[in-house]
Amino acid sequence: METSIPAQGVLADTLFHHAVEQSAIAIAITDANASVLYVNPAYCNITGYAASEVIGRNQSLLSYRKTPKSVYRELWAALAAGKSWSGRLLNRRKDGTPYIAELTVTPVLTPGDPLGDVHYLGMHRDVTEEHRQACLLLNSKQLIESVVSVAPIAFALMVGNTEVVLDNPAYRKLAGDLGVKEPAVLVIDTLKKSMGESFKHAFAHRRPLIAQEVHFQRPGGDDRWYHCSVSWFEEHSSSPDSFYGDATRDYMLLVLHDITTLRRQEEALRMSVMREHLSATELTDALRESLSAAVFQLQGPVNLIAVAAGLQRRRLGPGTNDPLLQALEEARIAGENAITTLRDTIPPEPVIAVSPVNLNEVIRDVLMLETSSLLAAGVTVDWQPARVLPVMMGSGEALRSLFRQLVTNAVEAMNLKGWSARNLLIRSASREGRVEIEVCDSGPGIPDHLRLKVFEPFFSTKKGGRGTRGMGLSMVQEIVSRHRGVIFIDSGYTGGCRIMLNFPVRSETTVELETFK
Ligand code: FAD
Repeated sequence: METSIPAQGVLADTLFHHAVEQSAIAIAITDANASVLYVNPAYCNITGYAASEVIGRNQSLLSYRKTPKSVYRELWAALAAGKSWSGRLLNRRKDGTPYIAELTVTPVLTPGDPLGDVHYLGMHRDVTEEHRQACLLLNSKQLIESVVSVAPIAFALMVGNTEVVLDNPAYRKLAGDLGVKEPAVLVIDTLKKSMGESFKHAFAHRRPLIAQEVHFQRPGGDDRWYHCSVSWFEEHSSSPDSFYGDATRDYMLLVLHDITTLRRQEEALRMSVMREHLSATELTDALRESLSAAVFQLQGPVNLIAVAAGLQRRRLGPGTNDPLLQALEEARIAGENAITTLRDTIPPEPVIAVSPVNLNEVIRDVLMLETSSLLAAGVTVDWQPARVLPVMMGSGEALRSLFRQLVTNAVEAMNLKGWSARNLLIRSASREGRVEIEVCDSGPGIPDHLRLKVFEPFFSTKKGGRGTRGMGLSMVQEIVSRHRGVIFIDSGYTGGCRIMLNFPVRSETTVELETFK
């Protein structure tokens, strides 16, 4: 037993020597002044020096002379206090090339000889590549951060579809502009409503969405349009317990690009085209209305002549040559011919295209088209659109005519001499699968007994009574019915005239409207 202890000690020394020699870490042992006593092969590999070239020389031969003096001071202060020091130094290889050394220096005291010479054990790795990678990462992070913070696009990084974990200044500005805490939630909600099943599918399968347009109408503010893109990425967990696992977390990146300026330019163009189209349509409509009125007006006397002729024929009996009867018959035939001729000249109703329609957009168009007449009549408009309104199937053109008529009626009703209250409130909302619109003016209102009558053709409360006037609300009623909607005048409203409309959002409306001519 006694003889085996030194034998084990020798073996351990040999093993230790081999371990140090074969270590991949550069190891140096120096005296108290950092003069090299020993280096291992890894040291020679990294520095390019042979052991014989460094033995007896100071470790400072590795200095690239760019490491701040303060670093060396810290190093030596730690060693002087009998402590280890770790840090990074800029070293120079034998060939002059620099490398970053991650160095740990430890004082080595000989046990049982506290007064003996101190030695130092230096161990270092070349971490140049590691540093380069870290710098690349940091640079790209800073680049991304600066692009993201100055870019005119708003972005939000979300977990699930409600929690925003990261955003940028443009996003926060958007939150202020829209008056909501998380615009991302509003955008997702809008996309869900506008895209329906395809959004659900994209969301469930983590499919990207590219440049989906979303439009917000801010109460009392400008409209805003955005191109919205959604992409997904998986974050791998950095927790040590998932080092050999595959723990991931899904993130949704929402990017919003403000296209309001572009849309406004397009809108201005669209408005001018629409104005031209409307003036042509209005001309035809006016012609159709006048001819229909003429037919209507003519039909009464012709009917009376027919009745008079019938009475005369019955009074005189068959085979009579009575000149009055002949005159009456001729007048009846001439009248009927005139009616037929007039009917034939009535321009046909145009074929109207059916498509998904957002009533907020329709009403906005109408208000823009009517701006000059509203201003001329001194009418104050309070437009309160629902922030998100589901689209309905219908004819944009017909619905525009409908709301134009209601706005025109409201302006005419309030534009009375001496009438001071001139306010028009239009509000949209969506409730239980229906889109609801309220058009409310502060004019004299419609008396209760006329609330149904005003929807009859040729009925008008304005001077002239029956005539070419009075087709407006009848046309409105017709368009509402075609869209399976409901229109009524609120009898309980006393501050003027309040017209309530609602339309189904369901797709069955399509069937009815396919034949909408
Ligand atoms: P120096 O004149 O050597 O010293 C700079 C500062 O350190 C001064 O403030 C000085 O007062 C203080 N200082 C120097 N020697 C001592 C000492 N013996 N006791 C107390 N304070 C002292 N340097 C590298 O650049 N690269 C290396 O890889 C490296 N490895 C090292 C490994 C070991 C084990 C040890 C002990 C030191 C190592 N050094 C290394 C430090 C090196 O010895 C030099 O201190 C350093 O390179 C600065 O050299 P210098 O000639 O510029 O300045």
